[in-house]
Amino acid sequence: AGTGTFFVGGNWKCNGTKESITKLVSDLNSAKLESDVDVVVAPPFVYIDQVKSSLNGRIEIAAQNSWVSKGGAFTGEISVEQLKDTGCKWVILGHSERRHVIGEDNQFIGKKAVYALGQGLGVIACIGELLEEREAGKTFDVCYQQLKAFADAVPTWDNIVIAYEPVWAIGTGVVATPVQAQEVHVAVRDWLKNNVSAEVASKTRIIYGGSVNGGNCAELAKQEDIDGFLVGGASLKGPEFATIVNSVT
Ligand code: PEP
Repeated sequence: AGTGTFFVGGNWKCNGTKESITKLVSDLNSAKLESDVDVVVAPPFVYIDQVKSSLNGRIEIAAQNSWVSKGGAFTGEISVEQLKDTGCKWVILGHSERRHVIGEDNQFIGKKAVYALGQGLGVIACIGELLEEREAGKTFDVCYQQLKAFADAVPTWDNIVIAYEPVWAIGTGVVATPVQAQEVHVAVRDWLKNNVSAEVASKTRIIYGGSVNGGNCAELAKQEDIDGFLVGGASLKGPEFATIVNSVT
């Protein structure tokens, strides 16, 4: 960790019931969290209201997606206006499951980022390569293309956290080694320096995601350019999520 306030997000994905979320919120409310860490959780849309009204104010709420423009006749979508109305401060955009399972492309994701930022939400902007892309030596190229799509679209980086999430590490139990993660984080920071500005490069938090857990977070957090984590599976367990939050060094 080296840039800004350590940032840890919990992505609950499409998991949970009213009952399991009541328990998770209660565990989070009683967890001891280091004060100098930004902590956010991203519940499924239908539980945002429940979480907002029961979670203590220490933890902010993120949405897992948002509609690309003002709400209206878009059946099944959730607007940024609605997310703000229910108390969300952040939105995760470009998650690998949205890119590779649902089929969202760079341009669409960039437009979503512009709209969300314009309405005052912070954006957790996800990038990361597939296993076959890594094996073909294309890791940096893929990450740069995804970054460029954000950079070409957004007017400012003030409210963006970049999440580097190698797709082969997400939900697989195969975590990137600290060296592998650090290597890409440095490359991302260099890309920002060369293509956006030195100031944005030095201020933007770059967090790592992909099979982070209570056992591997400390070594990762020691890396100079790993400024936090985006956590899937392990964020569904309150005490383990707290361990990850508290791995800040
Ligand atoms: C994620 O979905 O952002 C993620 C990193 O998942 P997991 O921690 O389960 O690999």
